[in-house]
Formats: sequence, structure tokens, C-alpha cells
Amino acid sequence: MTPVMEAFLGALHDDGVTDPKVLDVMARIPRDHFVEPQLAPRAYDNLPLPIDCHQTISQPSVVGLMTQELGLDSRMKVLEVGAGSGYQTAILASLCRRVYALERHGALAMKARARLEALGISNVILDHGDGSEGWPRHAPFDRILVAAAAEDPPRPLLDQLRIGGVMILPIGEESTLQQLIKVTRTEDGFTYEELLTVRFVPLLNGSA
Ligand code: SAH
Repeated sequence: MTPVMEAFLGALHDDGVTDPKVLDVMARIPRDHFVEPQLAPRAYDNLPLPIDCHQTISQPSVVGLMTQELGLDSRMKVLEVGAGSGYQTAILASLCRRVYALERHGALAMKARARLEALGISNVILDHGDGSEGWPRHAPFDRILVAAAAEDPPRPLLDQLRIGGVMILPIGEESTLQQLIKVTRTEDGFTYEELLTVRFVPLLNGSA
């Protein structure tokens, strides 16, 4: 393993990403492939970086922690809202059966799709659209991951979660620190658990 990769995995581990399956996938998915070439030298720093359309590729340790909290297995169908660069999408796709990913910026959706294809990742359906409405045609989902912050969990996403399913999402306003929360759908409702303080771009309605 290269020293850069060793340092990357060490930083993930220090921030609480300890699941060997998640670390293994993050060692294999090249993050430099998901940023602009001039940022590639910084791709293995544990930092968010700018991508097109004034958005960001999430911080690797946050990607790892969210993935770990989802508790994925190879039979699961996952909805991802806010695919951005496609980096998190690639990681999810390596750990589940199929990812349905939505991105509201058409330019980002196109690029993310091309990047996933170039890596030979074929169990992703990535579309341009507003993910706050979910994707009713493919519901229910075993897991839902939202990469943009809403003030409350969007009702359509709660409705599209399978009983026993888990959704991870940041909650809070853009200018304040947000809470990453884990929602579990039970037979008779939903349970909520706060995981950590995070900072995400806002979940916006409509597509761009
Ligand atoms: N995990 C991604 C995060 C990208 S930032 C990555 O690491 O690249 C969050 C993304 O959510 C942005 O690209 C933004 O355009 C998108 N987004 C915000 N609101 C959305 C919505 N309602 N539907 C779909 N995507 C949305």
C-alpha cells in the first residue's frame, strides 16, 4: 500500500471509520477520479473539496461514517439523494445490490454517471432530478442516504423507507452546524438517533 493510501485509511480510522468492509472499499475506490484534475493531489486529504456547480465532494471520513451506519449488505436496494461527484455512490454500489441516485444539477449528474461507467460500476441508476421527493417508482428502499441538509426529514423519503429500513441524513439550517441523524422505520413508526455534528450544503427543491 502506498504511503498516501496508508495515511488516508489512518485518518478515516482516527475519525471512527472502523468497519473493515467500508475501509476496504474506500481503499479501492479512487477518490482522485471524482475531483477535477487540479485537485487530484489533494484527493486523499480528509477534507471536502469543491466540485462543479458550487457544490462539494463530502469529507471522506463523513462518507465512511455514513456508509458504516447504513449497515449495508449485498441484497439491499439503496436510494442516494445528492450524488454530487458520484464518489459516495461508488462506495455504496460496492456494498449493496443496486443504488438509485438522484442529483439536482444536470451537469453533475452527467459527470458522475460517466465517472462510474469509467470504473465499470454498473449497479447504479443515476438520474437528474429532485431527490427530496424520493423515487416512488423504485420504492421501498432498504436504505436511504441524503447528502444535503434539510430542516426536517422529507416526508416522501420517510414514506419510501421499507419497514426495518434505515435512513441517514443531516438535519439543520445551512448557516448553522447540522446533526447527522439515523432514522429507523419500525412496525409502528420511526426512531431517531443523533450521530454527529456535520456541515452539508442545503437540500434544495426542484432541479437545476
Ligand atoms: N456525496 C456527494 C455530496 C455532494 S454535495 C459527494 O461526495 O460528491 C450534495 C449534493 O446534493 C450536491 O451536488 C447538490 O446539488 C445535491 N442536492 C441538493 N439538493 C438536492 C435535491 N433536492 N435532490 C437531489 N440532489 C440535491
